[in-house]
Amino acid sequence: MRILDGKVTAAAIRAEIALEAAALEAQAGRRPGLAVLLVGDDKASQTYVRNKERACREVGFISEVHRLDAGISQQRLLDSIDALNARREIDGILLQLPLPAGLDSAPCLERIAPHKDVDGFHPQNMGRLMLGLPGLRPCTPAGVMELLKRHELSPAGQKAVVIGRSNIVGKPLAVMLGAKGPWADATVTICHSGTADLAGLSRSADFLFVAMGRAEFVTEEMVKPGAVVIDVGINVTEKGLCGDCNFASVSRVASALTPVPGGIGPMTIAMLLRNTLQAYKAHTQAQQN
Ligand code: NAP
Repeated sequence: MRILDGKVTAAAIRAEIALEAAALEAQAGRRPGLAVLLVGDDKASQTYVRNKERACREVGFISEVHRLDAGISQQRLLDSIDALNARREIDGILLQLPLPAGLDSAPCLERIAPHKDVDGFHPQNMGRLMLGLPGLRPCTPAGVMELLKRHELSPAGQKAVVIGRSNIVGKPLAVMLGAKGPWADATVTICHSGTADLAGLSRSADFLFVAMGRAEFVTEEMVKPGAVVIDVGINVTEKGLCGDCNFASVSRVASALTPVPGGIGPMTIAMLLRNTLQAYKAHTQAQQN
């Protein structure tokens, strides 16, 4: 069985991004800039934000973390987003989710200027994804697609099953897989908690994508022999971090599988950097004209 190593693949992508950013800096006169808004003191969010900061530094981007009190009002949070929208040297704005209780993420995500929305969650970018138009794509599903491509695993013409229909993973991933074009063109089924015969459907998949948030839920009985399995899940358990697949069990039948950690997690951060570079290129081109 092939282990689809997201750590190694993401490192290669980061190296490419660092080279391109260094080459562009000379013409643009500035480096790409990412601003992260972190509200409250959620431990997991703090870790994610630290990892994103480190990745930015490594590729030569400027990164700013704005730490805001959990008790901030909705209006003050919107004002903070407006301030970042107005700054020319900030190419990407990321609002770390989840927000503390009492704050509504939807109007905040919608307030981020679509051209700075490096998480790809703004309705305009989501709509552009639906329509097959260029735009900033959500990082986790984009990371899944890039990992497949870099391992030359094409889902074209294959039966793909996505377990999970969240706005940040399952839904956009299903759209990307079913899009017309190379490295897509799959026939997609989306499963969720209302799905009848989940195991039967997942066993029919040539490409199985699991984004449920249920530790080690998927076992070999749910996997077609020879299937490619992408485990998006990250679960904190007593034994440490694990995915939504039972790795030992699924690896007995799958032809390829992502590890957790070291699979889609690093790919997600690499795609955040790629989106920031994409936004920077658009901004600096517009600023030069
Ligand atoms: P989410 O918003 O909680 O969505 C989970 C989805 O799984 C929902 O659509 C839910 O169905 C479905 N589901 C849950 N239990 C199920 C069951 N027993 N049978 C069938 N469907 C079930 O989670 P998410 O944000 O998409 O994240 C999913 C996982 O990916 C989590 O472990 C998260 O930590 C991880 N994640 C990883 C990355 C990364 O960088 N690697 C990024 C984002 C998320 P309903 O819609 O019917 O409730």
